[in-house]
Amino acid sequence: MRIWLDGALRDAEGARVSVFDHGLTVGDGVFETIKADHGRAFALTRHLERLTTSARGLGLPDPDLDEVRRGCEAVLDANPMALGRLRITYTGGVSPLGSDRGEAGPTLVIALSATERRPDTTAAVTVPWTRNERGALTGLKTTSYGENVVALARARERGASEALFANTVGALCEGTGSNVFVVLDGELHTPPLHSGCLAGITRALTIAWAGAKETDLPLDALERAEEVFLTSTLRDVQAVTRVDGRQLADTPGPVTAEAMRIFDEHSAADFDPR
Ligand code: PLP
Repeated sequence: MRIWLDGALRDAEGARVSVFDHGLTVGDGVFETIKADHGRAFALTRHLERLTTSARGLGLPDPDLDEVRRGCEAVLDANPMALGRLRITYTGGVSPLGSDRGEAGPTLVIALSATERRPDTTAAVTVPWTRNERGALTGLKTTSYGENVVALARARERGASEALFANTVGALCEGTGSNVFVVLDGELHTPPLHSGCLAGITRALTIAWAGAKETDLPLDALERAEEVFLTSTLRDVQAVTRVDGRQLADTPGPVTAEAMRIFDEHSAADFDPR
């Protein structure tokens, strides 16, 4: 496996990031996960824009997007595979323990791993912990993912593949690594960005292509919804069969099936939708 580290393609085996990297010691970093289909990175322009937004939110210097593009291309070329997860990690860089971010400049790592197409359906659970819709990191894709790791472990214990959060005022927010859509009275809704959810790229494309409305929803909308689905880079549109104890009928339902069809059609026609 060949990866990109600080300006050059290297063997993953021998590549080294400092144990004093601020990304490792305090989670001071941002990242993107991108779907790589036969060597092509889906929606790369949008992912690079979000990487910049996240970096700015954390006070990191803007990533050099020419280098990031070059690195992505080099990693994709060096590791041919059918379906891959391309991961860009950009951190605060090397800094002595207990000190602020160092002067050495950020660390950039681009890596790829093979993955399988996700199943079209899955189960989800709600968790008792909340997303903070007004936090310093809200809406940024940072490497501080510990809370998501804990919530996802809870979901897996309960036979589900995703955990859904409410925010601090009890509104439906998002999953640990996905955005959530619900069908109420035949209409498709998803929580607005002010709920504290990540500005998911699959979410934005689904809103644009399938015409979902952004609506403030209470968590218990999940109990009334006729259909529920998740969106994310590696899931695309994934129907939810069960939320907590409630089984949803005929999954994927008609609105979800149509959103899946529209997403597949549009994404096949335009690999870098702006
Ligand atoms: N919400 C969170 C917390 C995520 O980590 C992700 C993706 O990793 C998403 C939503 C979905 O975003 P995207 O569609 O850009 O993958």
